[in-house]
Amino acid sequence: MEQAANRKRAMVIGGGITGLTACYRLTQQAQADNLPLDVRLLETSDRLGGVIATRQEDGLLLEEGPDCFLATKPWGVEMCDELGLSAELIGTTTEHRQSFVVRHGKLVPVPQGFYLMAPSSLWPFVTTRAFSWPGKLRMALDLALPRRGASEDDESLADFVTRRLGREALERMAQPMLGGIYTADPRHLSMQATMPQFLEMERRHRSLILALRHQQRQVGVQQPGVSGARYGLFASLRHGMQTLVDALADRLPAGTVHLQTLIRSVRRDPDSRHWIVSPQDGPDLEADALCLALTAPQAARLLTGLDAELAAGLQNISYASSAVVTLACDRADIAHPLNGMGFVVPVVEQRNLIACSFSSVKFAGRAPDGKVLLRAFVGGALQQEQALWSDAELQDAVCQDLRQLLGLTGKPTLCHVSRHPNAMPQYHIGHLARIERLEAAARRWPGLALAGNAYHGVGVPDCIRSGDAAARGLLQSLFPKVVNGSLSSEETIRC
Ligand SMILES: Cc1cc2nc3c(=O)[nH]c(=O)nc-3n(C[C@H](O)[C@H](O)[C@H](O)COP(=O)(O)OP(=O)(O)OC[C@H]3O[C@@H](n4cnc5c(N)ncnc54)[C@H](O)[C@@H]3O)c2cc1C
Repeated sequence: MEQAANRKRAMVIGGGITGLTACYRLTQQAQADNLPLDVRLLETSDRLGGVIATRQEDGLLLEEGPDCFLATKPWGVEMCDELGLSAELIGTTTEHRQSFVVRHGKLVPVPQGFYLMAPSSLWPFVTTRAFSWPGKLRMALDLALPRRGASEDDESLADFVTRRLGREALERMAQPMLGGIYTADPRHLSMQATMPQFLEMERRHRSLILALRHQQRQVGVQQPGVSGARYGLFASLRHGMQTLVDALADRLPAGTVHLQTLIRSVRRDPDSRHWIVSPQDGPDLEADALCLALTAPQAARLLTGLDAELAAGLQNISYASSAVVTLACDRADIAHPLNGMGFVVPVVEQRNLIACSFSSVKFAGRAPDGKVLLRAFVGGALQQEQALWSDAELQDAVCQDLRQLLGLTGKPTLCHVSRHPNAMPQYHIGHLARIERLEAAARRWPGLALAGNAYHGVGVPDCIRSGDAAARGLLQSLFPKVVNGSLSSEETIRC
C-alpha cells in the first residue's frame, strides 16, 4: 500500500473494452501531461477483452462475441485510428448486402429500403413476401395516423410499433431485428433509450414512412440491393475484434494489467478518504480514484457494503444471456445460395435460433475457399432457457434449424459454442431516468466512475465512449488544475 509522496493511483476494475479504454486514456493522458499517476487494471479472468474474443482455427476466423461495430457511432472508428489500426479496418463485403427474415419456415429477403421497422421504398414493400397483405395495409396506415399525444412518458418498442405500424410489423420485423440487437423483449424495451431516432421521426414528420422517405432523399439515391439492418454501416477489423483489444493492451505501461485478480468489494477509508479495493486473494489495495468497468450486477456486488441504495439500483438493471454457436461447413453441404449477410428469426416462428450471420459472406477472409462460416445466436430475453442448454444440445438444435432453413446436409466440420451469461443489459422502459438517478447517486462518491454497457449504449463504440468519459472524469477529479484545460469539455464527467 506504499505510494510515493504526491503520486496518485487510479484503479480500473474489469478488463473488457470499457476498462481497457479507461485504462488506456488514463495512462495516455498521464504521459501526455506528465501527471504523477499510477494506473492498474484488475481483471478476474486470465485474458483481456471481456466478451470480445477472436479465435483462429484451421484457416477460420471465429468471433466469440461481437464481430463488428457501428461505424456511424464515431468512437469505435476513432479509437482504431488513434491506435494506428486504420489500415486494419474493414467494412462488410459489398456483393450481397441484403439480409433475410424467416417467414413460415423460409428465408425471405428483407425488402430493399426497409429500415428496422418501417419501409421507405414503395415497390419493394408492395411486392415483398415478408408481410401479408393485411399486414402491409396496416403498416401503410402509418401514413395517415396522427402523432402520439403530447407525452413525455417512455414507451415500449412493442407499444410504439403496434401503435404506428401494427402487430405484424412488430412480430415479423421489429421484434427479430431490434429485439435481436438488444436480445430483448420488445414489450419492455425502452424506445427513448434504444430508438430515439424513431420518436424524433414521429415528432417531426408524424409518419415514420414519410420520415424515412425524407431521410432517403436527403442522403441521396439509395444504394441498390441494400436492405435490412444496413450492414454497410458496420466496421470490423481484418484479423478480428481481438486486434482492438490487443492494440489497447499493448499501449499500457508494463505492470499495469493484473489478470486473475477477482475483486470482491470496494470501500472508502473514512480517515484517508482513499478507496480500498479488496481482491479475493492477496492484500487490500489503495486507490485515489476508481473506475468500475463492469456489468451493472457485477458493480452492484462490489458496492453493496459501501452504498446499499446505489448497489440496489445497479442490481435492478437486468441482463440477458445468450450463446453464439459458430459452425464451419463445406459449401457443397448448403443448398441456400447464401446471397446475403444472414437472417433473423421472429419468435413467432418458434425456432431455436434467434439469428444467424453468414460470417464468411459478410466479411472477406473468414474461411478458406470451399468452406462457409456461420454464426448462430441462441437465447436472449425471450428464449433464456436455450442459452443454458449443453454444448451438444445447442449444436443439435442449431443444426436442426439450419437443415430446415438453409438446406444444410452433412455434418459441420467445426462447431464452437461461446457462452455469454448475463452479458447483455436490458434497457427497460424508464431506462434513461433510472440511469440519471444512478449517476446522481454515484456522484456522491468523489473519485468513483461507473462505466460499461449498462448506461448509455450496449455497442462497442458506446463502451469505448463510456470508458473514455470515465477516465477523463477521474483525471479531472484527481488533477483539477492541470487537466481541466487539456480535456475536451464535451465529455461527460461521471465521477
Ligand atoms: C454475444 C454478443 C454479441 C455482441 N455483438 C456486438 C456487435 O456485433 N457489435 C457491438 O457493437 N456490440 C456487440 N455486443 C455488445 C458489446 O460487445 C458489449 O456491450 C461490450 O463488449 C461490453 O464490454 P465491457 O467492457 O463493458 O464489458 P465486458 O466485456 O463484460 O467486460 C467486463 C470485464 O470485467 C471482468 N470482471 C467482472 N467482474 C469482475 C471482478 N469482480 N473483478 C475483476 N474483474 C471482473 C470480466 O471478466 C470482464 O472481462 C455483443 C455482446 C454479446 C454478448
